[in-house]
Amino acid sequence: MAYPTGSPPLLIGIDVGGTKIAGAVIEAPREHTFTDVRVLAQSSRPARRGPDALIDDVAALVNTLVAQLPPGSGTVAAIGIGTPGAVDETTGDVNDIANLAIGHVPLASAIRARCGMPVTVENDVNAAAVGAARLVEDGRAAGETIAFLNLGTGLAAGIIRDGELDRGSSNTVGEIGHIPVEPHRWRCACGQVGCLETAGSGGAATRLWPYASPPMPAILEAARNTGHPHHKQAVEVRDTIIAAIADAIDVLAVTVDPNIIIIGGGMAKTGAPLLDAIRAELRRRGNTSGFINALNLPARLRLAPTDLPVGAIGAALGAMHVPAAA
Ligand SMILES: [Zn+2]
Repeated sequence: MAYPTGSPPLLIGIDVGGTKIAGAVIEAPREHTFTDVRVLAQSSRPARRGPDALIDDVAALVNTLVAQLPPGSGTVAAIGIGTPGAVDETTGDVNDIANLAIGHVPLASAIRARCGMPVTVENDVNAAAVGAARLVEDGRAAGETIAFLNLGTGLAAGIIRDGELDRGSSNTVGEIGHIPVEPHRWRCACGQVGCLETAGSGGAATRLWPYASPPMPAILEAARNTGHPHHKQAVEVRDTIIAAIADAIDVLAVTVDPNIIIIGGGMAKTGAPLLDAIRAELRRRGNTSGFINALNLPARLRLAPTDLPVGAIGAALGAMHVPAAA
């Protein structure tokens, strides 16, 4: 996006979730610079079910965001949307958004028609990976390989190499939550048994610890507190969840070998106690394995920012290179 003079164009990012749709407006960053991302407006609204509701909600959120812009702001050049489901980035069509009961929605063309702007659509984890890579301090160095591990309802990763998303041949890169390795052999929504995400995800934590919402801060606290009525259970649940997350990190290390691994998604809002627990497990593995120890994984871990709409910002950044005709 070229703009030698004047104020930079603005980009709108929309992050479609299972319960809420978040949006942000940012200034398009200048190419090849790593200045901070400027967020000019942000808003969210509850997500409703069905394709027509999704189109109405995204269009309404775009209008809300534009109305919030300070006077004298630049003009909005494009909209980027991150969404769960099977995304065709070339058409902007999306299939199978299970949490919103959507079989098919022509999201890009519908929003383009409603808002009169170019629209790109990206898988939600990939969009969050782009946002996190830009927002985390040492995620900005050009040429780095970055893995973003999303601990949300499920478990999945987004991979960035040399500043570009790696999608593979069929958009399956990073779906490591469906590697069946977990010894408890819980049944997964994908049809397999023992998938990593049946133990190492926010959805798993909610299932295993029905006493608190969000569960993860409470699990870590009860596991530390020997006087807690559910202390023993908390230790078991914590170890099960953290072991599966460490397995996912091992998988990323030996398949992608990223410079940094950014932990994001809803569970990452637990903050430092979660990072400490994961690092402790990785160190424990390193103590009995010279191979794992040499990978130096605890030092590669980062936490995605918890105070910024990472997914919406990443979706907006993804709209930077959209052709004007799109
Ligand atoms: Zn699975």
